Amino acid sequence: MADLASRISQPGEPQAGGQPEESRLQDNSYDVEVQLSDLQQDTDNPLGSAHTFEELGLPSEVLRALTALRFSKPSKVQEKALPLMLSNPPRNMIAQSQSGTGKTAAFVTTVLSRVNQSKPNQPQALLLAPSRELARQIEMVVVQIGQFMPNLAVAAAIPGAIPREGRVDKSIVVGTPGTVMDLIRRRQFDVSQLKVLVIDEADNMLDQQGLGDQCTRVKNMLPKSIQILLFSATFPDKVMRYATQFAPSANQIKLKTQELTVKGISQMYMDCPSEVDKYDILCKLYGLMNIGSSIIFVKTRESATQIQQRMTKDGHKVSVLHGAYEGSERDALLEEFRSGRSKVLITTNVLARGIDVSTVSMVINYDIPMKGMGDSIHDTETYLHRIGRTGRFGRVGVSITFVSDKKSFEALNAIAQDLEIDLVALRPDDWDETELLVQKVIKSSRAQADYVPGQASS
Ligand code: ADP
Ligand code: MG
Repeated sequence: MADLASRISQPGEPQAGGQPEESRLQDNSYDVEVQLSDLQQDTDNPLGSAHTFEELGLPSEVLRALTALRFSKPSKVQEKALPLMLSNPPRNMIAQSQSGTGKTAAFVTTVLSRVNQSKPNQPQALLLAPSRELARQIEMVVVQIGQFMPNLAVAAAIPGAIPREGRVDKSIVVGTPGTVMDLIRRRQFDVSQLKVLVIDEADNMLDQQGLGDQCTRVKNMLPKSIQILLFSATFPDKVMRYATQFAPSANQIKLKTQELTVKGISQMYMDCPSEVDKYDILCKLYGLMNIGSSIIFVKTRESATQIQQRMTKDGHKVSVLHGAYEGSERDALLEEFRSGRSKVLITTNVLARGIDVSTVSMVINYDIPMKGMGDSIHDTETYLHRIGRTGRFGRVGVSITFVSDKKSFEALNAIAQDLEIDLVALRPDDWDETELLVQKVIKSSRAQADYVPGQASS
């Protein structure tokens, strides 16, 4: 494997960036000591901003809620996107910003500012997300930021939430595209007064075969004048072209390649001798997973369940969540994880995007994300979204990607090249070293876990 022009080095070798791994990690742990308010002062940092929420002309109830939530300053995407989204006449928006930088609050604030509160039962805004978990989470954020709006009403348009004869009679509707399409077709959902359409994880929503068709069909059933807001951390060029047709004449906020990764996430990889060794290595990491909370990403539902059963037998406490579970069970499983009652979660790409659990300090890519026919192409976007489940809003975290053969090594190398990053190598035969490297980062994130975003600067 040494012949690869690699950005990921063999264990023990100097990193591709020229620095030995030890000092790179010190760089990362230096990041850890930076408080959020400091990050927000740095204008190049995605959380940085000189402006205030007050300047944005938001409804007083929204401002009150942001204060109650201790959102003392807007992040960069909030500061840049909000004035553009709130201006009249409404303009479309395509906004890209790194994982964990507060995209949800940006679009939810816009939605709440546009909704006419005197018509609580008339659907006025529709927000679409790729999974039921993300739709539920966005619904929660609407409720939080709308907590002081007396008539605020929000409906979840996800499988099982609205009975066959029921109506969608709330001013804000958050859902998944298939269910929303069915509800509109069955005339349970009156879309004639919708003013705003938000698509979160828009590149995924517009690109994937089924989802893309559904989103386009939904859009075609909505009023022509609707304001369209597309958000994601990633917008590959191909999708961006379609996005600009989907949201014509949109204002755009874009990132350069080098800006895609979040500084607070220490990206590592484990060079496993072979595929079969991966399981034992995973179990060895279990102690580290429990310091905070951890998410383990695998390729298939079947292997997720198998690994969970095997780990449980071996005495480890782990939960599993994937698309084969029934809706209410999925809600309950994620709630257990959010609350910290379960701390290690095995899942598939269903949770790769959007999920915001601030205690997650470690993400493990047990299987490297691949796409295309026969999983032949490395999936840089999914990698970025998966590792983005940690390091939320200025916190720190570790991601560990398992490689076990030439194919996975090359895939990770290609991902590193796409993102212009270097990864820290972990050795499966040196556990003291691995523990030290990982703990150094995670323990500092524990210190930060008590930190309430925004509080330090007020
Ligand atoms: P993204 O969608 O960009 O990945 P989220 O919208 O899920 O990120 O936000 C990540 C976290 O940051 C959330 O827990 C949210 O409550 C928090 N957050 C968002 N905006 C602010 C702010 N201005 N100040 C403090 N915390 C914020
Ligand atoms: Mg998000």
